[in-house]
Order: sequence, then C-alpha cells, then structure tokens
Amino acid sequence: MPNDPGTASIARLRGEFTCAATEIGFLYQNTATILRDLRRSVLLCSLCYALFGIADVLALGLPGALVPLLSRLLPPLVAIAGLRYVSRAAAPIKAAYWSSGITSLLAMSSYLVVVCYRPHDILLHGMAMSLMAVAVLIFMPGRVLTAVLIAPGVSLVFVLLAWHLDATDAQSLGAMTMMIVFANVFGVAACYRHARLWREQYWAQQVLTNLSVRDPLTGCYNRRHLDAGLLDGEIVRARRYRLHLSLIMCDLDGFKAINDTHGHHGGDELLRSFATLVLAMTRDPVDTVVRYGGEEFLIILPETPLDSAVEVAERIRATFAGQQLQLGAATLSTTASFGVVSADFAAARSVTPQALIAAADELMYDAKRGGRNQVRSHQLTPHLGLAA
Ligand code: GH3
Ligand code: MG
Ligand code: MG
Repeated sequence: MPNDPGTASIARLRGEFTCAATEIGFLYQNTATILRDLRRSVLLCSLCYALFGIADVLALGLPGALVPLLSRLLPPLVAIAGLRYVSRAAAPIKAAYWSSGITSLLAMSSYLVVVCYRPHDILLHGMAMSLMAVAVLIFMPGRVLTAVLIAPGVSLVFVLLAWHLDATDAQSLGAMTMMIVFANVFGVAACYRHARLWREQYWAQQVLTNLSVRDPLTGCYNRRHLDAGLLDGEIVRARRYRLHLSLIMCDLDGFKAINDTHGHHGGDELLRSFATLVLAMTRDPVDTVVRYGGEEFLIILPETPLDSAVEVAERIRATFAGQQLQLGAATLSTTASFGVVSADFAAARSVTPQALIAAADELMYDAKRGGRNQVRSHQLTPHLGLAA
C-alpha cells in the first residue's frame, strides 16, 4: 500500500526499496526507460571504444595493436549480444542488469590490457579510466551495488598495475591516482543520489495516484477510478482468457435513519466499519471494492463464478448483520442488501460494464423490495438477458 511508509524505505547500501514488491513495482513502471537508457549507453560506449581502438592502432601499428584492439572490441560485441538477449528475455530488467554489469566489467577491464601494451601513455589511460568509472556509475543503467563494486574495484586494480609498471614519475602517478579516486568517490555519491531521488519521485507519484483513486472515508476505490476503465479492463481480461466475472452491488439498509439518530459522524463510522469488513472478506489484490455512491459499494470479483460470488455476499451479509458498532454510549447496527451478477465469458462474449452494473443494481433493489438484508443473484446469459 503506498500509504504505508515502511514500504517506501530505501536500503542504504543497495540503493533499492527494502520492500521487494515495491522495488518490483518501481522497475516494472520504469522498464521502458531502463531499456532505452541501456540501448543508448551501449551505442555510445561502442562508438567510443571503436575510436579508442583506432587510437591503439595509430600508437602501436598492426599487428602490435591486435590484443588491445580485441580487448576494445569485446565489450561492444558482448553489449550488442546482451541487447539481443534482453529484447527476447522473459524478465527484461533482470537480463538488462546482467548485460550492463558484464559490459561494464569488460569495458573497464579492457584498460588493464591496453595499459600493458601502452605503458608510456599511462596518464592518458588514467584519465580515460576516471571517465569510464563515472560512465559505469552514472550513465549505464544497472544495479547500484553492481556499479559500486565494478567501478572502484577495477579502478583499484588499474592503480596498482600503474604503480607496478612504473612507467612515469611518482608525482604524476600520484596525481593520476588522486584523479581516479575523486572520480570514483563523486561517481559513487552521484549513483546513490540518483537511485534515491528516482525512487523517492516514484513513491511520491504512487502516493498521489493512490490518493486520487481512493475514497478518503473508507479507503475503497472511488467512482472516478471505476469510470476510468477499471471494469472495462477486467472484462477485456475475462474475455481474452474466457473467465467468469462476478459483481456484487451492496447498499446499507435504513442508513438515513442511522444518520438521523446518531448524526453523520455515527453514519460515517458505520460506513467505515462496513468497508473494513468488505475489504477483509475479499481477496486482496484480486478483488476490487469501489465506493459506488453514498452507502453503496460495488465489489468486482474476477475469475469467480456465480455460486462463489453469492457465497462471498452471504458471508458479508451475515457478518455485518451480526455486528454492532460501539460509539460512546450508543450501539449502532444495521444490515445490507446485495445484488450479485455473474457472466461466463466463455459464452457471454459481448457483455458491457454498464450491463453488468445495471443488472447488479437491479438485483440489489430487488433484495430491498424483498424485505432487505438479503442476497439476490442471477447468471447473465450469452445474449445479455437475465437467466431465470
Ligand atoms: P434503504 O434501506 O432503502 O437503502 O434506505 P436508506 O436510508 O439506506 O437509503 P437512502 O437513500 O434513503 O439514504 C441514504 C443516506 O446515506 C442518505 C445520505 O445522507 C447518507 N449518506 C450518503 N453518503 C454519506 C456519507 O458519506 N456519510 C454519511 N454519514 N451519510 C451518507
Ligand atoms: Mg441504503
Ligand atoms: Mg443507497
């Protein structure tokens, strides 16, 4: 639930939501952005590595530059193969993370090879290494922890190698080491900051979305959310997979009298207790409870045939009828009437949301006319009519 602050906390070391479900939701919503960024990073890095390869050939000539050239070509080739793998993967984000991690490791490690062949250009490579560390930490989309291990890790090996090769004076090597350290420190800080800000922005958006689709009194979904295509979406899914879909319309009985006797505050509390009961007795997050009107609620039950939906309605009816709400010295209680309608989308292919709601509404009023505190139900026939 976006209202629960616990699910919004971000792990310090991983730079990800501590709640796995929230992190999955975040990645799911940003899949297109992550994949687009991966494509752009791979394209740009491949171009840079091709140019670096040309520089190696100019410096060493052929065949002297063969091994460095191969080490330059390997990262772009692996990255392009990775892109193909990502585009076909069932879990594209996981594949993208693997691909960017391996590419980053190869791209940075290629400098360890090149520097052995061109030790006199060590300062130039040190500068390129700093830029690569920043690119891996900030530019390549991937897991924070992976980038934070690869960039400083390979940078450290590079610095040790540079001192071991001893190809220039200690003062220059010291300055180069400082530059690489700074690039990594700033890169790591920026990497964490970006991960945190992106997640905080996502969370703020989730909270706002949640506020706009929920009824503040009961916590159920509001009518706006229903009208924005909630039921249409369920019908499309039920039609595609030829599933059952059931609707329960319920309305509190004699609610006006509750307000008149106990005031609106009392009425509000009773509404809230009814909504809490309905939310507790339905499957979260499969079923959807909508506050349809003042004291009317609509429950959408996907993949549920009529008899199961009637069972749910009966259970809610009986529990609510036996429930009493203590409010100060007063005891509040009432009953509710239910209309249950179900459609089997293996047969009823052309049922509209309006037809389903109208049928459930009509059945609920039928329950009212029948004396209230009862459940009325019908199975929709393939041609939208109500079965006897
Ligand atoms: P019936 O058994 O036929 O459904 O009768 P009823 O009294 O429940 O129905 P009626 O439509 O006459 O009254 C519904 C009342 O619900 C009127 C309205 O003031 C009240 N109501 C609507 N929304 C709210 C709300 O958010 N809070 C409170 N306290 N009352 C509300
Ligand atoms: Mg009523
Ligand atoms: Mg009503």
